[in-house]
Formats: sequence, C-alpha cells, structure tokens
Amino acid sequence: MVKETRSTCPYCGVGCGVIIESRGAQITGVRGDPDHPANFGRLCSKGSTLHHTASAPVTLQTRLLQPLQRLQRGAAPQPLSWDSALTLATDQFARIIRDHGPDAVGFYVSGQLLTEDYYVFNKLSKGLIGTNNIDTNSRLCMSSAVAGYKKTLGADAPPACYDDVNHAQTIFIVGSNTAFAHPILFRRIEDAKRKNPGMKIVVADVRRTDTVELADLFLQIQPGTDVMLFHGMLHLMLWEGWTNPAFIAAHTSGFEDLKATVRDYTPDAVAQTCGIRKEDLLEAARLFAQSPATLSLYCQGLNQSSSGTAKNTALINLHLATGQIGMPGAGPFSLTGQPNAMGGREVGGLANLLSAHRDLANPAHRAEVAALWGVASVPETPGKTAVEMFQAAADGEIRALWIACTNPAQSMPDQATVRRALERAEFVVVQEAFSTTATARYADLLLPATTWGEKEGTVTNSERRISRVRAAVVPPGAPDTAPRHDWAIATDFAQRLERALGRGTAAGTLFPYPTAESVWNEHRESTRGRDLDITGMDYAQLEATPLQWPMPEGASAGKVRLYEDGVFPTPDGRARFANVAYKGVAEPREARYPFSLTTGRLRDQWHGMSRTGTLGRLFGHVREPALQMHPQDMARRLITENDLVHVTSKRGSILVPVQASPEVGLSQVFMAMHWGEEFLSGVSATGTRLAGVNALTTSAYCPDSKQPEFKHSAVKVLKADMPWTLLAIAWLPDDTVLAVRGKLQALMARFAYASCVPFGNATADGHGRSGVLFRAADMQAAPDTLLQEIEALLHLDGADVVRYADKKRGQRRAVRLQRNTTDATLEGFLLAGDTRAQSWMTTLLQDEQPAQSYGRALLAPGATPPVPVQSRGKTVCTCFNVTDTAIDATLAECTGFAADRLSTLQSTLKCGTNCGSCVPQLQRMVRASMAPAAAGA
Ligand code: SF4
Repeated sequence: MVKETRSTCPYCGVGCGVIIESRGAQITGVRGDPDHPANFGRLCSKGSTLHHTASAPVTLQTRLLQPLQRLQRGAAPQPLSWDSALTLATDQFARIIRDHGPDAVGFYVSGQLLTEDYYVFNKLSKGLIGTNNIDTNSRLCMSSAVAGYKKTLGADAPPACYDDVNHAQTIFIVGSNTAFAHPILFRRIEDAKRKNPGMKIVVADVRRTDTVELADLFLQIQPGTDVMLFHGMLHLMLWEGWTNPAFIAAHTSGFEDLKATVRDYTPDAVAQTCGIRKEDLLEAARLFAQSPATLSLYCQGLNQSSSGTAKNTALINLHLATGQIGMPGAGPFSLTGQPNAMGGREVGGLANLLSAHRDLANPAHRAEVAALWGVASVPETPGKTAVEMFQAAADGEIRALWIACTNPAQSMPDQATVRRALERAEFVVVQEAFSTTATARYADLLLPATTWGEKEGTVTNSERRISRVRAAVVPPGAPDTAPRHDWAIATDFAQRLERALGRGTAAGTLFPYPTAESVWNEHRESTRGRDLDITGMDYAQLEATPLQWPMPEGASAGKVRLYEDGVFPTPDGRARFANVAYKGVAEPREARYPFSLTTGRLRDQWHGMSRTGTLGRLFGHVREPALQMHPQDMARRLITENDLVHVTSKRGSILVPVQASPEVGLSQVFMAMHWGEEFLSGVSATGTRLAGVNALTTSAYCPDSKQPEFKHSAVKVLKADMPWTLLAIAWLPDDTVLAVRGKLQALMARFAYASCVPFGNATADGHGRSGVLFRAADMQAAPDTLLQEIEALLHLDGADVVRYADKKRGQRRAVRLQRNTTDATLEGFLLAGDTRAQSWMTTLLQDEQPAQSYGRALLAPGATPPVPVQSRGKTVCTCFNVTDTAIDATLAECTGFAADRLSTLQSTLKCGTNCGSCVPQLQRMVRASMAPAAAGA
C-alpha cells in the first residue's frame, strides 16, 4: 500500500511542495505538489531525485544511525546510547561553562534546520546558557540581504512574491544564477516571458551563466563592481529625469545626500570600472526606471561580498528612487539560498538577532524576549558570527562547539583556520544526518539526526511563505539509538543542562516541548505585534495551505506583498536611502595573484553534496571537479583542457584539472562551491591535506553583515607537472557504491591529487547503473600495494580481470569484461601511468557498448581506439538521460525558428519536458545550431 505525504523540498529557498510516496519504512517516490503555490507541481533535477537519495542503499551507506563517541582524535568512533551521549555532552558543556564562562561555548547551526529546530537552539544558547554565540551557515548566504533590508526598508522582509514575475515588465537579475540556484522560479520567469514577450530581462553577472539565456540585455560586469553599476544607473536616471520625485518626497528620506554621492559615478567612470558599454548602462537604467513595474531578483552575487550590505542597499536605492516597490511586479526581492534561511531569521537564530525580528542591540527587545522565555535576561554582548566563531575557536577562546546540520569543514572560507579551530576545540559535537561529511571527522561526539522524509516542522521560503515539512517514514536504526529530530535532541540536552547548571525555573523546565508543534506555537506567540506576526495561522491551516507572513490573529490570509501603502516600518514610516560608496573587493588581483576566483553552484548539486553527491546520475551534467578558465587565458599560459593546475591564494593551494569556459571573463576563474575534500583532495609536498575549493577563499567579510566574500579571492594558476596519472572506473552493485567510495576516499590523501565521485548512467525510465570514478596524479608511480587496494575495491582483482603491468615504466592496467553470448561489455578498468585512452574507454563503459572488438587494445590502450567509439555524449537532460550528441543530431535535421526547434527537441527526445532544468542549455544549443540571422527570430 503506497502512502502519500505532503511535504517540502529540503534544498533551495524556492520551497517547492512535494508529495512523498512511501511503502512501510521506505520512501519510494516523489513528485511535485500541484497545489503548492511555490511550484504548482513542478520539481527541478534535485527535487525530483529526492526519493533516490532516501533509498535504502543510500541510507545504509551514508546515514549516521547511532550516537558515536571518539575517545581520541583520529580514532574510529565508538557507539553509545542516547542517554550516555547526552550525559557526556552535558558534562562537557557544563564544565566548560562553569570554568570559563558561557562565551566559551558556541553553536553553529544551519539554514537547513526547520524553524522549530532553530528556535530551540536559539533559546538554549541565549536563554539558558547566556551566550549569543550562536550563528548559522545562513550567515554565509543571506546576512547581507538582512542588513540591506533593515537599513533601507526598516525590517528584514522581502516585499515581493513569486507571482510578481507575472506582473513585472522588467526583471533585473543581478548576482544570481537563478537557472541553477532557483530552477523552479526560473521556470516561472520563462513562462512569464513566453506569455508576455514584451517583458524585458536584464542580467548583470560576472559570468555568462545559463540565466543569461533569457536575457534581453546582459551586463558582464567585473567582480565586485555592483555598487558602481547601481550608482551609475541612478546617476543616469537623475540625468534623464527618470526618477519618481513624488514617491521620493512622500515615502523616503536621505535622497539629497545620495544624489550628491552618485554625481561622481559618471557613465564613463562606471563603464570603465564595470567593464561594460556606456550604451548598455543607459539601456539598463532606462529599462529599470521606465518600466511600469520592475522586479529585482538577487542572491549570493550581492550577498557574499565584503561590501554585501552596500550592494544590497544600493540596489534598493534604485527601487526607492523610481517608486518601483509596493505594487504588483515591482520590488527588491532577495532570493534565499537555503530552504529555511528565512525561518532562521524569523526566530532570530543568528548572533546579532533575537526572536521575531528583534535586535540584540535593543535593550527593550532583549527584555521582551527574556520575558517571553521566562529568563532573567538575555545577554547584551553580541555573539560571534560564523567567521568570528571559528577564529575564536582557533584562538582557544571558544572551547566547545556544537555544530548542527552543516559542514563547516567544507563550506566555510579559509579552511586552514576552520580546521585549526576544529582541532583545537576541547569538545566538538556534530549533530548530523550523514556520517560522510568532512566535519564528522573532527567530532568528539556524533549525534544522529533525522532528515527529510522523517522530520516534522515548518520552513519559510523566499516569498515569506511558511510550509509544513512532514514525516513520511520513521527514521532507520534501532529504536534506542535511532536518529532523533534536531529540536528534540536540543530539548533533551537543554533540560539536562538546566539541571547541571541549576538554571531551571520554579515552574520546571524552560523547554517543555513534547512535539514540534508545541515549539512552533511558542515561536508564533513571540511574533505577536511584530512585522512578521503569524498569530493568525496554525499547524492545521499550514497543512492545508502554505501561508505567507504577516498574518496576524483575525486575518484570513497572509500578505502577498508589502508596503503597498507606502508606509515602511521605520520610526517615521519612510524608507531610507543608503548613502554608500563603491569600495571594490577586499583582495584585488595583483601581479602575484592575477586571477579573480569566484565560486557558485552547479545545476544538479546541492551544497556539500552529502545528499545529491550520493547519486551517480546527478554527476551526468558535471562529472568531476574542475576549474573553469577562459580559453584565451589558457592559451596564454600554455594550459590545455584537463591539465592539472595549482590554484593558490594567500591562504592555501589546491590541485585541480582545468576546463575551458568562454562563459568566464578574462583574468577570472570559476570553481563550483560544492567541491570539498570529500570529493577532491590530495596532499601537498609539505604534507598538508588539500581541503577543496574553500582552502582558497577569503574570510574577509562585510563590516555590517559579517558575510564573507566567497565571490572574490585573488589567486594564481600555475600548470602542474604530474607525470604519473591514474583513472579507475567500475560499475558496482547499488548497495556497495557509497561504501566503496568511502573507502577510496580514505586513499585520496596518498596522492598529490585525487578525486573520487559516484558515476552513473540513467535510462529514460529512471533506471540505470551506478559505480565509482577514482582519478589521481602524482610525481611518481604509486606503489603496487596501493594500486592493488584500489583494484580490489573496484572488483578489478578477480579471475575475470585481464591485466598488464610494466613496473619499470610505472604502468599498470586492469580490465574487467562481462561476456555475453555475442559480445562483451566493459565492467571496470584501471589505467595507471598512461591514461591517454581514458576518453574512449570511459565511453565504452558508460554507454555499455560492445567491447569485444577492442581486444588487446584494452590492455595496451592509446589515445585513439583501434575501432572508432561513438560516444552517446554528455548528459544535458538528467530526467530523460538525453545527451548533447543526440540533441545536436536532432537539431541538424531542424529548420525554422528557435522556438520551433526547441519544441522539436522536446517532442522527439523529451528533453526539458520534466523538471526543465536543462532548458537554458537547450536554448543555447538551439542558437548555436542556427545561422546568426535566424537565431534571433
Ligand atoms: Fe527543490 Fe528544485 Fe524546488 Fe529548489 S527549485 S525547492 S531544489 S525542487
């Protein structure tokens, strides 16, 4: 019997509704909820594969299924009961608090926690322990947006909603690869543009991303020059008389000061600094100001910056100067990266905030929260924000860290400092659903948490809409040690700590929560009378319909958009222009570090890939870690495709293969944020383990929001001389893939460079095979024993394996064939010392093509196969496993306009007809297939 449970996708801030199908304790399917107002039934490539990430083989190989204690750093952890685990945590935290004060401990939580989880952690830290040292990975994602809204509009509240894309006449997308980061919202923009071809889309970004495919005007700006761009647009708006003086006079303050500032941002200066044409600057200003309704969508490109708040406020200035706010289709709309970054903000789960959008710095707000919680006071000293917290732990100031639902050893910038912090802290608790994260390695105590499909609670998406997250199945594991809900773990710990510190109340515990709903009800009460008042909704209503805040008691619906009356939540009711100056990046390029490194998302992966990284099929679009570089920069440095390069910043160095990408600007390089040491590693000549892309990034942060500048680090790129290379790939039984990958991962540090990723193919009906790909390089050949270990793990050591070895030349090959009645297919191979045949042998294996005719060439492989190998090509459409080769072949037969060709592709190959994530790429391929004159038609 299949059970269906309505819930919410756990990935991005779009917050799509899902319907989970389950049988007994097993999740068996997922589909979009047609009634959910965020997605109306659609899901992207990540959301539509959620059930595969929750399948039994994945769960059993990746989940943390019982509490574990590590008696000694580096040793294997030992199981213990929940009671022993929480007693240990309580003893350690109580000891450190008693001996060194409450600020000697810190909590680092996550925008992927549910609102209820967040609420309990926040109260535990600020209310019970008495430290504001609680911050979250949302600090890395949207704290500049929070600061920007508060500084200008008076409250941390995105004023617009998703439906505004249907009312806008201009959409200004800046610092956001919406096509990858918020795919279902991008689908809605595509639909809106289709229905209203007159709508203009302006994109400003440092890279020509897939989002640009929809743009009428693209401004490829230099990194960090956004404030310059916005001020330049305002300068022109003033010059041309395109501002809205009536709105400015009636609803704002501070415009005269800003006007004086932007006088200096002349079109010449702006065009030169931003690297764009003056004509394009003028056109962007015109489209923004003269449109009946302009909606801005922005994300990490503005937020992750040492001037993130200035960028946010300079953009909001444009909306205030033109009156493009408070009406359908208009407003500055910050897109949240994580599923519940908004919920974290609502409960005040950051070091500088308090419950229900209250400010820590405000004594009246502190007193209100203390009264709500029933504690004497809430501490006044600001807590340590993410970067500060790990710096304080590295300096020995913070002695105990509790990390929940996040992976700072992958995601924080400047990994050298983060790792020093995790090593130096006396006691590190990691509360996690997955045992495979880089941070788990540093834990003294690992606490297993429930995850998507098992949890109950709420999340808030970018448009202020609260949705229910619901449990479809019970968590795996034995009842007395099985994973527990995050809020329940924090509650149990808090109750124990109350007793240990003697801080309970006369009435009993401060944490009297039997259910997630009881936590949410307390949170709801804390919002009464505040800008985000949700006293008019309850769990039962939310189960029926996700609702937007504010929705005070007595209201029949939430507020669709804010500030329609022109009144802002500031003391005088007026929005405030922010008079900010352009400052550039914290670490400009210079002769020794001549490249700008920027990081961002891949289409089919999520954050540190603890979930999406379990599925080989999600590596079809981007198979392995790579640094993208402009072809001209590569040619100038004699670097060719797939060459290994050393990428070095002032903080660290990594080795990574290069990929040519004309989408990246000159003197810039791009690397996906997902590649941590779990997938990309190796060890330097000095013995330092390479810690993924964030070994390079800077922890320089915005002075207002304390959000670090992931979007720009100065680096140098030097070709690496690694004469010995290795590639090993094999299909494996589904229930062993991730365990094998885990064991291979442990071998990565034995090479100067290594990457290890799941590998897979998928058929249109959703089936397919899984395996592992292991790549390595070094100055000299690896010892035979190490190669034998790899072969054994990949089942390349049996009687059915043919092999060749030339010890003197450091070469070794092993090939496993599956023979059938007429031919044979490749099941796995290892090429060591000479990997020139990697391309065609990988194709033979991945496409399961007949391999018999390649005979001895499989053991003496060269760059060219004896018989041509026709590759199926690179996956473009993950849902229907459609490759670029098939698409190009179909396009070769097409005539007519771009739209006709796209529909031919969709009708013949089905690509882009399910989740739609590949549509921008299809459009690019369509355009490339057409004569220039016809492409615009
Ligand atoms: Fe999930 Fe994709 Fe929707 Fe984001 S857009 S919530 S990742 S299905």
